[in-house]
Amino acid sequence: MADIKVSIASPIIEEEEINAVIEVMKSGMIAQGPKVIEFEEEFAKYVGAKYGIATNSGTSALHVALLAAGIGEGDEVITTPFTFAATGNSILYTGARPVFVDIDPETFTIDPAKIEEAITDKTKAIMPVQLYGQSADMDAIMKIAKEHDLIVIEDAAQAHGAEYKGEKVGNLGDMACFSFYPTKNMTTSEGGMITTNNEKFAENAKIYRAHGSATKYHHDVLGYNFRMTDIAAAIGLEQLKKIDSFNDSRIANAKYLNEGLADVDLIETPIVKDDCKHVYHQYTIKIKDGKRDELSDHLIENGIGNGIYYPIPLYDQVLYKEMGYDQSLPVTEEIVEEVLSLPVHAKLTEEDLDLIIKAIKEFAE
Ligand SMILES: *Cc1c(COP(=O)(O)O)cnc(C)c1O
Repeated sequence: MADIKVSIASPIIEEEEINAVIEVMKSGMIAQGPKVIEFEEEFAKYVGAKYGIATNSGTSALHVALLAAGIGEGDEVITTPFTFAATGNSILYTGARPVFVDIDPETFTIDPAKIEEAITDKTKAIMPVQLYGQSADMDAIMKIAKEHDLIVIEDAAQAHGAEYKGEKVGNLGDMACFSFYPTKNMTTSEGGMITTNNEKFAENAKIYRAHGSATKYHHDVLGYNFRMTDIAAAIGLEQLKKIDSFNDSRIANAKYLNEGLADVDLIETPIVKDDCKHVYHQYTIKIKDGKRDELSDHLIENGIGNGIYYPIPLYDQVLYKEMGYDQSLPVTEEIVEEVLSLPVHAKLTEEDLDLIIKAIKEFAE
């Protein structure tokens, strides 16, 4: 295999993050402490929400958010099959059943027009995924949720700083969950965050994060140890100062790729909805003529990392097949065969971007 010259993802860790970690290490307070509280406050402020509840991963944030909303055995949660496993897993952890609805072919996010037919008397929540850094059509989703008295939990793991109609993702539903895994738009190493304006949900989330305990050594519900460390929070506080500039770089890189690839008929560059700020967690193109896998190989041969997010709809995973899922959603089925994500991260140079464009043009000729 050729050496990868341009990687698909690369976190930016600088002196500020390193020094912040050293400071925490020297303080002796290395588990959940004052840095976590500060990070929760600052992150909530960033998205415009009242409360932030930090966790040790994006997955645990989703799990805790569902528990905080009272979701469990016998309940159904409507979501998209075109997402990372964590979205579905978090629903399964609670004992609830994920119900998969097809996606919009332009944004790859859940199609609101298909939600209503999936609602039953067991439905408790909708979990849209703000995929690749772009929001789902939240007005339509919130309208349905209101009519059917459902809770909306955004999976915002890929969309720090993204906007929908002038409002930040993370402040659009009843709760939202972020991930700070190293490939995401900002990182804490591992880490996650719930944001909400609902005081009760915020209180519940804190209880489930810490062994179901509101008062030390009193346990009323089954909780977990999903706490974030002050080491992670210290990294997060520094990253938060840079997230807008990281996103600006991603957006500029996407624009450069859009322009460079505009006349390549074989591919379709990402579509950004008018009222959305896309922060390009992924820059995902569609490839026609069944040539996606071939193009992916060609890019690897040219030292360009790339990714297929996601090659298999969740309902087609063995885990779900064995649970009896037998589904085939037409748009999802088409999209899993067509998408390819190219490097777009903030560390890319113009030279890297030119290399990507050149390799794709070469292939398309
Ligand atoms: C990354 C991701 C998660 C999970 O986050 P972790 O921090 O890796 O646990 C959940 N949902 C989506 C859509 C993601 O991309």
